[in-house]
Amino acid sequence: MVNETVQALTIAGTDSGGGAGVMADIKTMQMRHVFSAAVVVAVTAQNTIGVQDFMAMPKKMIDEQFASVADDLKIRACKTGMLADVPTVEAVVENLKKYDLGPLTVDPVMIAKGGARLLSEDAIATVREQLLPLADILTPNLPEAEELAGMTINGRDDMIMAAKKLQAMGVKNVLIKGGHQVESKESSDFILLENGDSFWVSSPRVDTKRTHGTGDTLSSCITAELAKAGSLKRPFALVKNTYQQPLPMAFRLATVTGRSTTGQ
Ligand code: PLP
Repeated sequence: MVNETVQALTIAGTDSGGGAGVMADIKTMQMRHVFSAAVVVAVTAQNTIGVQDFMAMPKKMIDEQFASVADDLKIRACKTGMLADVPTVEAVVENLKKYDLGPLTVDPVMIAKGGARLLSEDAIATVREQLLPLADILTPNLPEAEELAGMTINGRDDMIMAAKKLQAMGVKNVLIKGGHQVESKESSDFILLENGDSFWVSSPRVDTKRTHGTGDTLSSCITAELAKAGSLKRPFALVKNTYQQPLPMAFRLATVTGRSTTGQ
């Protein structure tokens, strides 16, 4: 049962195929028993084959969605996903500064696994300079961490250095996902906390091609847990616990590897 008094917000793009973006966010938050609101900043035409097209929302519509949500709901935590282009990132930043929507998880979505750009190249600097300083937690995969930190990542020492660089840009907590190291049998994520503590979370690689929407699902799981707990202690304890314990596949796929629940 969803606890409707615990409300979280996703600020992201839709996926008409239902596996990623806003759709994955809402399903994940629902599975974590959190009520999910959505500010749609872009609409994509996509399916399991790829992204066929997308369109960013006009600023006025983004502003109006933020106002509608903020005027009525009591959002305890929020996340950003696909942000499309410079005007969209700027509109989102403006609204995040205007309203209190709780702690912010930034999933710096850049390129879909099928190769489509979901954030224009010139918007990377806008994310770095304007959005990262607002982030309570940033969840880049390896290519995204490389882009944002401006360095190549080869192995654990580089992941630690990149996390430190990202923290120096104003992010409080950084979770770098190591899943793109496909040659490794283990998937190792690095977490650097606000107080300087850090830890690795490793788990055996899940042998599946069903990875569409994984990043969205992980970041919405963190956001949902943040909405419930108000601090990152519980989400991180859950992340640690879940990675280390054998759990039913459906739970693991939906909350850990971040699989969406559609079976794509
Ligand atoms: N489409 C949207 C709207 C998304 O937000 C995301 C998130 O990363 C994706 C697609 C990417 O999906 P994939 O997991 O295939 O990279």
